[in-house]
Amino acid sequence: MTVIHWFRRDLRVSDNTALSSAVRENNGDVLPVFILDDGLLSAPDVAPARVQFMLDSLRVLDEQLQKRGGRLIVRRGHPAQVLAQLAEEVNASTIYFNRDYTPAAIKRDELVTQGLQAAGREVKSFKDQVLHETDELLTHTGKPYTVFTPYKKSWLNAPKQVMEIGDWRLSPTSVSIFSISDLKSLITNLPALPTTTQKLPKGGELVAQALLKDFVEGDRMQRYNVDRDFPGMPGTSQLSPHLRFGTISPRQCYYSALKNVNYVVPSRQSFSPQASDPKKSGGDAWISELIWREFYMQVLYHFPHANHANFNKAYDTVQWGSGKPAQDAAHFKAWCEGRTGYPIIDAAMRQLNQTGWMHNRLRMIVASFLTKDLLIHWPAGESYFMQKLVDGDPASNNGGWQWAASTGTDAQPYFRIFNPKLQSERFDPKGDFIRQWVPELARVPADYIHEPGIMPNMLQIQVNCVVGHNYPAPIVDHAKQKDEILARFKAVKS
Ligand code: FAD
Repeated sequence: MTVIHWFRRDLRVSDNTALSSAVRENNGDVLPVFILDDGLLSAPDVAPARVQFMLDSLRVLDEQLQKRGGRLIVRRGHPAQVLAQLAEEVNASTIYFNRDYTPAAIKRDELVTQGLQAAGREVKSFKDQVLHETDELLTHTGKPYTVFTPYKKSWLNAPKQVMEIGDWRLSPTSVSIFSISDLKSLITNLPALPTTTQKLPKGGELVAQALLKDFVEGDRMQRYNVDRDFPGMPGTSQLSPHLRFGTISPRQCYYSALKNVNYVVPSRQSFSPQASDPKKSGGDAWISELIWREFYMQVLYHFPHANHANFNKAYDTVQWGSGKPAQDAAHFKAWCEGRTGYPIIDAAMRQLNQTGWMHNRLRMIVASFLTKDLLIHWPAGESYFMQKLVDGDPASNNGGWQWAASTGTDAQPYFRIFNPKLQSERFDPKGDFIRQWVPELARVPADYIHEPGIMPNMLQIQVNCVVGHNYPAPIVDHAKQKDEILARFKAVKS
């Protein structure tokens, strides 16, 4: 009897836990299905760049499935209805999928499961998106971790699921009428997709594998702990959209990293590597970041209130905003558009707007600036990021924003506030990254690139960057704003 594999955030054929199990347990008689979810596509924070990446990845997924004798079935609608109908059409006995942990996904999956089970079908779900899920790692008192370092220690020491390896084929089915070419008709009325002038990351499993190989096998991963903070260098893997959509698995990342920091990769058995010191090597530092991803997923899973509110309720009474709504709206707009008069902020926001991706160091700097300098509450920034990021992920995005705003788990203490000029001098010393993204500053010499306003007037004219005319003057005074936000946090603490 036919079974269905429902693809969601696992758009790959290699090392796909639920898909491999479906194939193994049913001699390849598996219908691979993806549903364009109307609920998600019409959500206010849907990002056209993310949709584009997903569609690219679906096309590649279909090609990969064809090589194994199948086709991807793509349908549009609400998953509970679509799956119930499709399962009925093909008389599927079982529906397989990999688990997802955001509050909305959990609700959706419960609904889908109830409907299918009520119709007498079996539902099988698998751990795949993370190496450790839900209640697998708990403190010695049985509580979820809220501090990263002990979570990481526990994560590194826990036995790990191994990768699914081996070739397989799907058995021929009568699904040609559902083929991927239908995707064209299904993608009408999607959010306006990015124009070709945007430099978006490319989707698909093959791109992801090439990125991973290049990163771990060259010297980039070995240098990660040195280069990772410099936005002008290719110091990070750029795999986040792929981890977001599952065009690569976290196990593929983790075991490739281990292999290249000279650990032995195990065969099909449980495995527990030695706990490692993140400062020891680039590979260890990179694995730490993979663990941050899972840390934030388990935080959101255990503390769903953080999705829309401060994780740390002690800060619920912090006052946000300048008291002048029109000014706050203008500041937020300037931040979104990269016109704050702070070059590193403006370069970062324009990188985001043009590519759908932003370097991690810059995400921290712009998030600190929005919350601590412009005094705007983090949900506004979180939502803007979700509307733009190709890797937009509810857990990592929320975790990153709450960290920057000092309202999160093991939050950055509120008195540690990023100084945008110092960050810029430290991580883009010559200003090359700034010049790449802010053409108004293209001819500004390195001595002034972090604060163009101090350029002598004659030089401003000479380099065609008259501050306040060709490039904005800073919209706020960092020193003043820092005192203001500190006073507001202190008022709550005392
Ligand atoms: P690498 O440095 O190569 O790291 C490898 C992988 O580890 C990443 O692909 C990512 O999956 C994970 N990772 C790295 N850093 C973090 C981190 N701090 N938290 C969680 N996971 C991490 N990441 C997202 O994937 N989606 C988001 O929506 C997102 N929003 C963020 C918002 C803010 C305010 C901040 C400060 C960080 C956010 N991050 C988010 C985390 C991080 O910035 C990106 O994962 C990283 O920049 C992706 O680049 P990379 O793939 O080259 O990362």
